[in-house]
Amino acid sequence: MSTGSVEVVYRGIFQKTLAKNICRGIVFAARKEGKIGTAFGRYGDSPERNGIPAKQFAVVSDTEEELEEHLAKYEPVNNDVTIAADDALCKGIESWAWYGLQPINKLLGDGGTLLVTSIQSPNKLIKTIHRKGTPYNLAIVKAQASFSGLWAYKDDHTDVRLLGALAKVAPHIVSLDAMLEAIRDQWNDDLKVAAAKRAYEATESTPVGVDQGNDEVPFSFDLPGWTKMEEGLVIRGMDAKPQDVPGRDGGYVPTRNEVFKKFSTRTMRPVINFDTCTKCTLCWLNCPDTCFDITPDGFYDANMEACCGCGVCEAVCPVKDCVTMVNEEAFEDNDSQWEMWTKDKEGYLAWLTKNITERPARSHGYHHVGQYAEEIADGTA
Ligand code: SF4
Ligand code: SF4
Repeated sequence: MSTGSVEVVYRGIFQKTLAKNICRGIVFAARKEGKIGTAFGRYGDSPERNGIPAKQFAVVSDTEEELEEHLAKYEPVNNDVTIAADDALCKGIESWAWYGLQPINKLLGDGGTLLVTSIQSPNKLIKTIHRKGTPYNLAIVKAQASFSGLWAYKDDHTDVRLLGALAKVAPHIVSLDAMLEAIRDQWNDDLKVAAAKRAYEATESTPVGVDQGNDEVPFSFDLPGWTKMEEGLVIRGMDAKPQDVPGRDGGYVPTRNEVFKKFSTRTMRPVINFDTCTKCTLCWLNCPDTCFDITPDGFYDANMEACCGCGVCEAVCPVKDCVTMVNEEAFEDNDSQWEMWTKDKEGYLAWLTKNITERPARSHGYHHVGQYAEEIADGTA
């Protein structure tokens, strides 16, 4: 090996500690084998926001010269492994520094491995990932998305499980023995070591061909260069007038940023039962992202291009089960729920009931200390 690099795409704030643990673990383990490495945040100079995708990288080399040569670039673009600890990121990612939606495999090198925590099957997950011009591998660590948090880190072993899996899919970067030694040194915890080893044994890769995956062209836009900026006013104010929406007669749509769509930051989305909605306005008033369009008949329709999935509307809705947050992986488009409901009320109710009852559970970290040990013991981890 000369130089190997790993990209960790994570949800800002919620997964920052997780990303840091993974990148630091890779560098410590590489050093156990006499290599040298470094870890850094690609967007560390910007304020991170809850849920907004961000990146960290770990680069490992045999020699200092090779490492320096590799780091002379802005960011590693042909990574051996891309790690995503939330499978909703597989639909594409958008942040302040990217001009639209970036496919999750964009910076993955030819023949590299996309390593994802997911409870979905590889075939189902591949369908959500944009096609890539070169073949790569998809490896899954069976786990729910981990939002362990920055301020109060809930340790659910996702970090060491991904490190164990990494040793399996990219042994040229770091071996399992070195990884386990590094984990023992850092955490001094037999359970952590066992979790990494278990993930190593369980992880398998699925080859993904150039004709597999989502063939949609990701949303993108051009930013004006500095020569096109206006004198005196650089940031244009938002238009305060209601917008026209094709097919809608009446109603009101608040103005929104036309290019920052926000939906890629979402890991769950609200699903609304219009049959029980009392039109109380609370979701519309409290949504921090002004997502709700007021429909001609006075309902509130959450615009899925603008929703970041924060769950505030579910929390404030006074009607039981009227708004339910559902795993984003259950959906394939951002279509209007209200339009679906107006066209076919019975069909909408069946769709809603199915999504609410069959949705894979989402968890914001583990609930109590020792839960992982219990799950290993009963075979569910
Ligand atoms: S989850 Fe609800 S409150 Fe949060 S951004 Fe989406 S529509 Fe607004
Ligand atoms: S908060 Fe619930 S009941 Fe009130 S308008 Fe929104 S969806 Fe309807």
